[in-house]
Amino acid sequence: MTQPGTEPNPLRVAIVGSGPAAFYAADHLFKQPGLTAEVDMFDRLPTPFGLVRGGVAPDHQKIKSVTKSYDQIAANPHFRFFGNVEFGKHVTLSDLRGHYHQILYATGAQTDRRMGIPGEDLEGSHPATEFVAWYNGHPDYHGLKFDLSQERVAVVGIGNVAIDVARILCLTPEELAKTDMADYALEALSKSKVKEVYLLGRRGPAQAAFTNPEVKEVGELADADAVVRPEEAELDDLSRAELQKINDRATVKKVEILQGYARRGPGGKTRKLFIRFLVSPTELTGDGNGRVSKMRLVKNVLVATDSGTISPKATDQFEELPVGLVFRSVGYRGVPLPEVPFHERWGVILNETGRVLDPDSKQHRVGEYTSGWIKRGPSGVIGTNKQDSVETVACMLEDLAKGSILQPARADAASAGARDAIAIIVDFELAQRNLAAARSYLHALEEPPEALARARQPQYFSYADWLKLDALEIEKGKASGRPRVKFTCVAEMLKAIGR
Ligand code: NAP
Repeated sequence: MTQPGTEPNPLRVAIVGSGPAAFYAADHLFKQPGLTAEVDMFDRLPTPFGLVRGGVAPDHQKIKSVTKSYDQIAANPHFRFFGNVEFGKHVTLSDLRGHYHQILYATGAQTDRRMGIPGEDLEGSHPATEFVAWYNGHPDYHGLKFDLSQERVAVVGIGNVAIDVARILCLTPEELAKTDMADYALEALSKSKVKEVYLLGRRGPAQAAFTNPEVKEVGELADADAVVRPEEAELDDLSRAELQKINDRATVKKVEILQGYARRGPGGKTRKLFIRFLVSPTELTGDGNGRVSKMRLVKNVLVATDSGTISPKATDQFEELPVGLVFRSVGYRGVPLPEVPFHERWGVILNETGRVLDPDSKQHRVGEYTSGWIKRGPSGVIGTNKQDSVETVACMLEDLAKGSILQPARADAASAGARDAIAIIVDFELAQRNLAAARSYLHALEEPPEALARARQPQYFSYADWLKLDALEIEKGKASGRPRVKFTCVAEMLKAIGR
């Protein structure tokens, strides 16, 4: 047997997840000179692209256009997609070990971090991740309900997810109608009674996690004003000194934009987006029927910590904010995969530069790797995952060169010799009119993982199935001048492609 990675014996790689990190890893493998790699990508949803489809704001179509480059990667003849196939349910770790030389987990961060305050679970208080998944038409979330009859909404956190949520709540029906958000969300948000949105930062403007294009964008909304309190836009001595020291132009610009909003005043548009600084929620209280009605906030000051960071410190000043809807947007969090070592506190797969580690020995678990948010935590933009996957693939190649890979029993089952032998048996069974036996041998003629996926999940989606669905969504969108109209439940997706 030749060394895996050659034409007669390709390196077989399974990637679990199909977001940006997954595609960048596949791309980097395909680009290696002299290496023949076959990549099978599994996703529990029928549709690929992870948070690019289910997380990126529906009014940010330009960002979503990155999927065109993923289509090119998927067009490689050595690439296959198995959508609607869940790791741990339809295929297990032992299945993958039986078929692949290397396994890469790129499942992202599917849940949210909690604030850890009383009242967090009152009705009307939601993780922002669920709201985002709902308006983006993620099949797991399409049945959720958000009470948009409320006039005041708080969004806790001032990262890009928080500002996305706040902006979406402030768009007019005309602005919403240009997006690819789910139809039900378009309808609900178009009728929304929300008038005031409070974006709550526990630190100051110089520490805000949202980026400049996003903060500029909220100053240019059709019928909502971005409002900042002048006293909260001013930098404290610590932040001013820090900013001078690091001399980061993007942060200086961000502070200028926010101070510009403070100077501009509240404006006369229908909706207000209040960006608050130096406040932390300490409690949510209910209205007697278990629904959130108020948020208690403590005023913070900034202090330098021993580790050199600038942290919020609560004062003894409190205020109350009447709100009927709360979204916590204090960071995503990874979810463990069955049988894969997980670092509970960090919410990531236990790994070193992408090599999965055994929790006891802290040694590399041969053949297992990770990339993206489930490797490093929920940080950075889409492009950050490229570098991350390059780092992981470098480890995969290094291990391949050392021969430190899995030895799958069935990796070469579909080799030309085996295929010829099976084809002869199929002819024989057909001649004997033994159709059931012929059919089962025909299964074996398929590439092994394809036969596996078909056996475990007959309703799996290939990339061709996805492209068909994609074309249908775009076609549906044309009628209403929208980028696409999404299918938001798996049964509808199956029906649409004729299953
Ligand atoms: P993030 O950027 O890490 O922001 C989290 C925010 O939550 C920060 O403002 C943080 O404040 C705050 N926070 C954390 N714990 C808190 C607490 N207990 N109480 C109050 N506030 C708290 O996370 P994200 O917004 O979820 O975004 C995740 C990643 O996706 C980021 O890298 C983001 O840039 C990226 N993303 C990018 C785009 C885009 O490019 N348009 C869109 C969406 C997301 P502290 O700073 O004080 O900790």
